[in-house]
Parts: sequence; structure tokens; C-alpha cells
Amino acid sequence: MVLGDPAQILDEQPKSVCILGSTGSVGSNTIDLIAREPDRFIVDALTGHSNVELLAEQAIAVSARLAVVADPDRYLDLKNALSGHAIEVAAGPDALVDAASRPSDWVMASIVGAAGLESALAAVRRGAIVGLANKECLVSAGEFFCREVIASNAKLIPVDSEHSAIYQVFDFDQAESVSRIVLTASGGPFRERSVASLSKVTPEQAVAHPNWSMGAKISVDSATMMNKGLELIEAYHLFPVRGDQIDILVHPQSVIHSMVEYVDGSMLAQLGSPDMRTPIAYALAWPDRMVAPSEPLKLEDIATLTFEAPDPVRFPALRLAREALDAGGSTPTVLNAANEIAVLQFLNKKLAFLDIPVVVEKTIDAIPRQNLNSLDGVFSIDREARQIALEHATQRA
Ligand code: NAD
Ligand code: MG
Repeated sequence: MVLGDPAQILDEQPKSVCILGSTGSVGSNTIDLIAREPDRFIVDALTGHSNVELLAEQAIAVSARLAVVADPDRYLDLKNALSGHAIEVAAGPDALVDAASRPSDWVMASIVGAAGLESALAAVRRGAIVGLANKECLVSAGEFFCREVIASNAKLIPVDSEHSAIYQVFDFDQAESVSRIVLTASGGPFRERSVASLSKVTPEQAVAHPNWSMGAKISVDSATMMNKGLELIEAYHLFPVRGDQIDILVHPQSVIHSMVEYVDGSMLAQLGSPDMRTPIAYALAWPDRMVAPSEPLKLEDIATLTFEAPDPVRFPALRLAREALDAGGSTPTVLNAANEIAVLQFLNKKLAFLDIPVVVEKTIDAIPRQNLNSLDGVFSIDREARQIALEHATQRA
């Protein structure tokens, strides 16, 4: 299995950790948890893309040994921000991989997008415990990623709240007794809006998620529901079920984070407040638990939990992701790359919201499905898809 087996972990020493993407939403929440229990963790390395001010502040706050900025042009800024502190400084994409390759016990993979694939793989290849927030690497290169996990005996602990929920209630010893996984979805900020009213939505409206505070890309993915499509493919790779055993259910309160149904009719669910610090704490402390400052659930105040089927007309991204999962091969890689470009163009106000899935579909149609036999093959398809998606996005601008 690709997921961690608690029976293999015995250590009581402080955990040394590396956070890839510490300046982001998941990364900052991880720092928040670590800073609350400084005796339990040693921070080996932190990485960020270009926000050197925040990266330096975090590195000083948790006494990191190494800080890495991915943008090489920001090296001197980071060096200056950390002058006088005994913190090593490095820059550039190779330095990210080096940070992940250092012998820390635990790595948070929380870079957004396929940009996080190589560093997450570096952590996997040396057999680390990897808290996996970055779903795009499983969508883009799921088979290769999981093969590397098994070969290196690394332990993946899902951080995505739905997958953390499933991991907590999935009986891996009786996987054949699982009939279905149900991924819950908030429905995003536009759940109740007509298609016509979505033609002019702005990035500011799209990133204003009703329940979760997250980075810009995943917030737009939640608004298109591509996020749930990516999570469908993520779940397929993480859990021993077929694609047709994974369903999606809209649950606007985001209290039930996902469910596993067994052949006897039992449904097991994990519930919690919509606060990423709960699934992050689960992954960080695994196989133990740690205190998280998330608001305890007051079900008597929430009183009502509701559910509805997702609307495939308003959210075509769900269909695209399901088709990509069924097609396999290069199609999920293309889906992910095209979506990354379309979302970026939308955030830069160069593409209309409703054109995001259109660009993704046109890109998928333009690239014949092929079997992928190597990681280089993944990277090459990813590059081709980005270029074609950009051309389609530019035509529609
Ligand atoms: P974010 O945009 O807030 O942070 C992304 C991090 O990646 C930042 O540290 C940024 O500096 C870094 N980064 C971005 N581009 C990079 C590049 N090219 N090279 C190196 N570093 C780069 O994103 P987030 O919301 O924290 O999400 C991170 C990942 O976790 C995503 O894959 C997302 O789907 C997943 N996730 C996030 C949440 C959430 O609540 N935010 C929940 C579930 C899953
Ligand atoms: Mg999620």
C-alpha cells in the first residue's frame, strides 16, 4: 500500500521536519502547529517561492537550519533578511530538491501545482514520511509517484481534508469490504448561482471561499469544482478502490470531510470544523495525535447537515476529471497542466471564469492520449499541454 502503516513507526525522538511551500496557506498552518509544540519538532528546512520576508520570519521563529527560496533572483534578499542568524540560505529549483533530500524524518509537500512534483519525489525516494497536500503531483504523475513510494518504503499521509478523513476510517485490512468512498464537496462560492451569472465573476469573487481559507489556485479550483475532480483522481491513487467506487456529494457545511461505505451498509465518516490545522496535525503527529487549535465542532449549533448531488451542467470540470481518470495514460497529466494554466490566466484577468473548463477540454482534445512510460514522459506531456492551453486561453481572451 502507498499509505503509511503505523506499526512501522516506533520513534519517540523529536521529529525533524522539512516544509516545502512553508509560505503558503498549508505551509503557514503547519508552522503554526509546530510553533505551538517546539520541543516536539526540529525544523530542518523551509522553502518558499518568492516571499522572502515571510520565509525569513518563519525561519527565525522556528529556528530552521535551512531556508530556500525557489526564485533564484531573491537569493540576496533572503540572505540579507537572515543575516546575523545561523540559518543556511539557498535558492533555485535544485535547492528545493536538495532541501527535500536532506535526512529529515517528515516532509510536508505543500507547494502548489506540478512545480512541487520533483521535490516531493525527492522526499519519497529517500523513504521519508511525507504529508501530502500537493494533489497536483498525484494527478499529473500518480502511477510513477505511487511506484516510487512503494519502492522506497516511504509513507504518504494525506493532508487534503477529504483524504485525511478517508485514511482515518478506511479499514485497509478489509479493503475488499469497502463498497464506496464518498468525497464531500462544499460546492464552492458559486454553488447556488446560475451559469449565466458566472460569466463575469472576478478572481476576487472566485477566491472568496465560504468555508475554507486557502491559496488562490485551490480556491479557484473549488469555485469551478475542478478541485473535487483532482481529488477524485488523488483518491483513486491513494486508496485501493476502483474509480467507479468513488462518488462526490455536495455538503455545503463542510463538516463531514468524507465517508467510507462498507458492504454491510455501514458508513464511517470523519467530522471536524473546516480548519486545515486538523488534517495537518493528524499528518504531522502520525502515528500519534497532537493538539490542534481548531474550533471544536458544536453539532448542536450547526443543527442541520445537508447534502445534494453535484450539478454536472454548471460544473463541467467534474465530468472532465472523471473522463480523464477513466482514460488514464497521459490524460490526467494534460488535465492538470491545462487547468493550472487556465486558472493562472483567470487570476491574471486574461480568461473568463467559464472558459477555464473550456480551455482544459480543448487541450485534452488536442493531445492524443498516450501511455506514459517514464517521468520524463510526464514532464514532456505537461510542457506540451501548458503550451497548447496557453494558446487556447489567449484565443479566448
Ligand atoms: P498557496 O498558494 O497558499 O502556497 C503554495 C506554496 O508553494 C507557497 O509556499 C509558494 O511560495 C510555493 N510555490 C508556489 N509556486 C512555486 C514554485 N514554482 N516553486 C516552488 N515553490 C512554489 O497554496 P496552498 O493553498 O497552501 O496549497 C498548497 C497545496 O496544498 C496545493 O496543491 C493545494 O491543492 C493543496 N491543498 C491546500 C489546502 C488548503 O487549505 N490551502 C487544502 C487541501 C489541499
Ligand atoms: Mg480537499
